[in-house]
Amino acid sequence: MNTDTIAAIATAMANSGIGIIRMSGNAAIEIADKVFRSKSNQSLKDCKSHTIHYGYIMNEDEVVDEVLVMIMKAPNSYTRENTIEINCHGGVLVMQKILETVMKYGARPAEPGEFTKRAFLNGRIDLAQAESVIDIINSKNDFALKSSISQLRGKISDKIANLRKIIIHETAYIESAVDDPEHYTLDGYAEHLNEVILNLQNEFQRLLDTADQGRILQEGIHTVIVGKPNVGKSSVLNVLVGSERAIVTDVAGTTRDILEEQVNLNGIMLNVIDTAGIHETEDIVEKIGVDKAKQYLENADLVLYVLDSSQEMSKEDYKIAEMIRGKNVIILLNKSDLEQKAEREEFDQLSQLSDHIVLISAKEGNGIDDLTKIIYNMFLNGNITFNDELVITNIRHKNALSETMESLHYVEESIQNQMPEDFYSIDLMHAYETLGTIIGESVEDDLADEIFAKFCMGK
Ligand code: GDP
Repeated sequence: MNTDTIAAIATAMANSGIGIIRMSGNAAIEIADKVFRSKSNQSLKDCKSHTIHYGYIMNEDEVVDEVLVMIMKAPNSYTRENTIEINCHGGVLVMQKILETVMKYGARPAEPGEFTKRAFLNGRIDLAQAESVIDIINSKNDFALKSSISQLRGKISDKIANLRKIIIHETAYIESAVDDPEHYTLDGYAEHLNEVILNLQNEFQRLLDTADQGRILQEGIHTVIVGKPNVGKSSVLNVLVGSERAIVTDVAGTTRDILEEQVNLNGIMLNVIDTAGIHETEDIVEKIGVDKAKQYLENADLVLYVLDSSQEMSKEDYKIAEMIRGKNVIILLNKSDLEQKAEREEFDQLSQLSDHIVLISAKEGNGIDDLTKIIYNMFLNGNITFNDELVITNIRHKNALSETMESLHYVEESIQNQMPEDFYSIDLMHAYETLGTIIGESVEDDLADEIFAKFCMGK
């Protein structure tokens, strides 16, 4: 165990009101005592845990800044080590000076995520909880935040621990029976185990089923807006974004990279690719066909196909329709505020392309509620369950669950093939260990390193 003392600037590296320099390790309080002077000259060592002290950070005789110092003594801190947080003025230079000063007296710079890594290594949180810390910081919408908080509070960890208990119980029984057949019988055991496995498979499948929804809620729905020029793609994007961004007035002919906008639609996020920038060319379909847009279309969770309902459908419209066949499409008949020149039947043919046809006016904002409802129904079965349901959002957890399912499947096969009982325990143990990786039991050091390397500095 590393007991050296680490230090980092924990707040953003930008000028702001307050900055925090954080130190953790055996010598944190000692080092703080060397750089901190209060009026009373009291040593921080003699102060109670969880108290705040006013004074100055000194580099020998030079005053570096006026600060508040917070002490948290082991084990009652984030890392479970002695921890000092120095609240200083939030200038980049002054924060750096304070960091340099504590380093001069024995602290070393922390690696990204090292504070949280210590919290994990010291057993304050497990790996799933540690991962939730970074997820909280990176949360971009209510769902992502709430699910990360519930993960930090141990919801996934508890569930995994309970399921592991069931598995280890069976393994222990098999081993006892093999060692001590007089007291433990294996008569009828296979049927019993089969039932346990079925129940476990149901539980794991339920968790896995949440993973796709979890990803969509966490990352957003990858959405591409397509349609020929002037049907109102940019205007649709603008009403979705809900801001007065001036995409619509962009000068024609200026090529720009495809933009991705994040749209928060009542709590779920759409990552919308705006293909408007690539339409200033004669043969738009061909351009879209060969361009990046095609690639985006391939990876899209959702395609919004915009048509101008005040015009008859053109060749181009049909060509685009061909391009997106088989995708998850919502058809938007835009410009519903204008006189409708096209026959309704013309558009009805599009029902082969999608069940979802919505009449909208991007100009007047009509039909957007209907669109939102359809998206909710498509991706979330109509509602967001923020609170009680446990949702798997982490791909590492998802993979571990899939691997566990596989091991359980092998157990099932062994039972069907009437293999000897110790065959069961091999795969049961594998399932047990795989599940353990979610909460950080039996993980390799390099995996832990990889996870913590994704953290920001000072966390
Ligand atoms: P894009 O080329 O598909 O991105 O289309 P734009 O969003 O740039 O819109 C083309 C033109 O149609 C602009 O003049 C918009 O103001 C207009 N427009 C877009 N949506 C509507 C709508 O719902 N009703 C009406 N009347 N005009 C619209």
